[in-house]
Amino acid sequence: MQDNFSYWEQSTFFSGYDVVIIGSGIVGLSAALHLKSNQPKLKIGILESGFLPSGASTKNAGFACFGSVSELLDELTTTSESEVMQVVEMRWKGLCKLRETLGDQALDYQQLGGYEIFKRGDSLLSDACIEQIPYLNQLLKDVIRKPDIYAVSNEKIAGFGLANVDSMILNRYEAQIDTGKMMSALLQKVKSLGISVYNNCKLIQLIKNHPEFILKTSQGDYRSKKVIMATNAFIGDFYPELRVVPGRGQVLVTEPIPGLKISGTFHYDQGYYYFRNIHDRILLGGGRNLDFKAEETTDYGTTERVQSALEELLYETIIPQQRPRIEYRWSGVMAFGEQLKPIIRQLEPGVFCAVRCNGMGVAMGSLSGEQVADLLISEL
Ligand SMILES: Cc1cc2nc3c(=O)[nH]c(=O)nc-3n(C[C@H](O)[C@H](O)[C@H](O)COP(=O)(O)OP(=O)(O)OC[C@H]3O[C@@H](n4cnc5c(N)ncnc54)[C@H](O)[C@@H]3O)c2cc1C
Repeated sequence: MQDNFSYWEQSTFFSGYDVVIIGSGIVGLSAALHLKSNQPKLKIGILESGFLPSGASTKNAGFACFGSVSELLDELTTTSESEVMQVVEMRWKGLCKLRETLGDQALDYQQLGGYEIFKRGDSLLSDACIEQIPYLNQLLKDVIRKPDIYAVSNEKIAGFGLANVDSMILNRYEAQIDTGKMMSALLQKVKSLGISVYNNCKLIQLIKNHPEFILKTSQGDYRSKKVIMATNAFIGDFYPELRVVPGRGQVLVTEPIPGLKISGTFHYDQGYYYFRNIHDRILLGGGRNLDFKAEETTDYGTTERVQSALEELLYETIIPQQRPRIEYRWSGVMAFGEQLKPIIRQLEPGVFCAVRCNGMGVAMGSLSGEQVADLLISEL
């Protein structure tokens, strides 16, 4: 196919790039936006292997969150206070950046609050979490700059129609967005700045050919002076030494439910399950912890085991009086690793990466993109 590209095609579409970004998820697009806004003369291209962005950024749950009580306490058992706070700050600043870049309307940003639920039998965990609320409120005050972030909110359990739930902790500043609208608005913004996005274009090999790189792809050879790898869970195809571990997340969405009482974003089982309202439906995901090994994959697909667990939670706890049909099921792939912090660095001369948002890329993705762009700019 490459053989039949004209001189015009080769010189205009495939060559002369200052920067080529691999991956058009939230991180790749945010990096492109920041680069172009700061260095308008750069010729930037984005290569995306999917027909749509197809890792996590269009597959996620749209929680604009920065940490539930049990998740943060769990992290604090293995990671220092200051490191956990750095990550919370990245999530919070990333969300502020996303809202500033696109605006709340384009995101359909709704601050309905987030709730961590504890079922009957979880009292050991819920007691420990409730006891630590004053400590976490104090710790996060300097980062989020809001008082009383977390509070016990048991009085709302009945109003949401939840069954078998004994206690609930509210995060007042958690919100939800429409993921599809976010990615569509980001793509439009990137394209409006003159950045080219090539879909169905998978990077196969990266060859150093001083003073530039040849990027062998499924469509042909691109040439660029610098490269940003924003491929998240797929980074192991090129840099296995980063030891990024993929984690598949499965999701379902119900048909519209008349009189739906759920409103907000909800976390259960230390964040391994999550659900929210969307257009009178329930979106519910999680269950990766049922079989970590099986879900440690970049292959898409749903499994009977995880989907049954999701349905059980749906019908027994979330909407016990109703049995709506499940209209959508899908999976996306996140990137995890030994540390909570994302990997944002130069990998080799001219090649940079921003990967591993540890399942919180809606929150921190805009900032990760900005940071890798700044790193590259400092090398121009
Ligand atoms: C089910 C699910 C629910 C989630 N819920 C939330 C949530 O509620 N809140 C939150 O903050 N985060 C959530 N996340 C995490 C969040 O979506 C991710 O952290 C974030 O989208 C990562 O963005 P990214 O740009 O780094 O990666 P991705 O969006 O995965 O983008 C990487 C892109 O690189 C492309 N690519 C890979 N290899 C190549 C190649 N060789 N050539 C060209 N292109 C390539 C992929 O197709 C992909 O589009 C969720 C994730 C999942 C899967």
